Amino acid sequence: MYDVKFVYGNLGQIVVTEEREKKKVVALLSGGLDSQLAVRMMQEQGFEVSAVAIKTPFCDFDCGRGCGFEIRERADDLNVNLKTVYLGDEYIEMLKHPKHGIGAGFNPCIDCRAMMFDAAKKHMEEIGAEFIISGEVLGQRPMSQHGPALRIIEKESGLVGKIVRPLSAGLLPETDAEKEGLIKRENLGMIKGRTRRTQLQMAKKYGIENPPNAGGGCLLTEPQFGIKAKDLFSHIETPTINDVDLLKIGRHFRLDEETKFVVGRNKDENEMIKAIALPGDILLEVKDHMGPVSILRGKNARDHVKFASSITVRYSDVPKDQQGIVTVKDDNSSREISTESIEEQSYIKFRM
Ligand code: SF4
Repeated sequence: MYDVKFVYGNLGQIVVTEEREKKKVVALLSGGLDSQLAVRMMQEQGFEVSAVAIKTPFCDFDCGRGCGFEIRERADDLNVNLKTVYLGDEYIEMLKHPKHGIGAGFNPCIDCRAMMFDAAKKHMEEIGAEFIISGEVLGQRPMSQHGPALRIIEKESGLVGKIVRPLSAGLLPETDAEKEGLIKRENLGMIKGRTRRTQLQMAKKYGIENPPNAGGGCLLTEPQFGIKAKDLFSHIETPTINDVDLLKIGRHFRLDEETKFVVGRNKDENEMIKAIALPGDILLEVKDHMGPVSILRGKNARDHVKFASSITVRYSDVPKDQQGIVTVKDDNSSREISTESIEEQSYIKFRM
């Protein structure tokens, strides 16, 4: 692509000039500060940057304004095109047996990054870009950002020599881009480790206002979510996106090998539980008092209705010494049962 400019010549005539073709690069954009800085560094060196944002079923949807909103704003600020790629079922398939294991939560960071780079590779090939950049910083994250992990990710995604990490590239092996003279080592960063001091100075230099906090955004790294995810994947051969959506809300109880119970914690979660319910699920709701919507899911759901109802009453406003009426809805029927609240020690062992 050529940049076309109109300028006035000596005699006042309009002259059309063409500037050197800009080389293209693809950036994996996360919305975090590091990937924004990587984009700015490449733009400064004369590249046209096109961004790819990856979403997975485990993105934290608590971002308030809806998934993808923030990243779209970042892309606009950076003046780059944005392509969003959603990794859904294939991501869940990978998570069943991540080749390179999981981290402290249920995060398969190496396999995950390899999938992300693979998606970016497709975009690179589509638009004829030279290489891919990311905001990875050497030694910043324990699982995926040490030297050997970075090399595994390149290998797994078929991108050996094609990934430039501008923030740390001065400390990493030479990439094809360097060998071909597209970038120079003296223009690349030498950032290492978890401190963000240098990045914050760079943010100032590039005019990035309110730089986002480090981390966040991936539920798989959260210990509590990791416990629920591990439980799901060890009880269901192939969980669905619906199963994963249910993991994101409520208090979770494993009642038996085949059956789970989830209790909403607030009005929004109650609504979400109703929306997530599928044929075969049983919904429970206390009548005449404020309280949760709960869901029983699994082969033996019917066997647990009485027990689940008493837990539902427990989390409601029904006074302790009174019976509560619980509406029990399954596929086509609705009935009411009367039950009292259960003592915490009788059910807490099922809580995840
Ligand atoms: S933190 Fe989550 S999104 Fe990031 S690499 Fe790890 S698994 Fe993937």
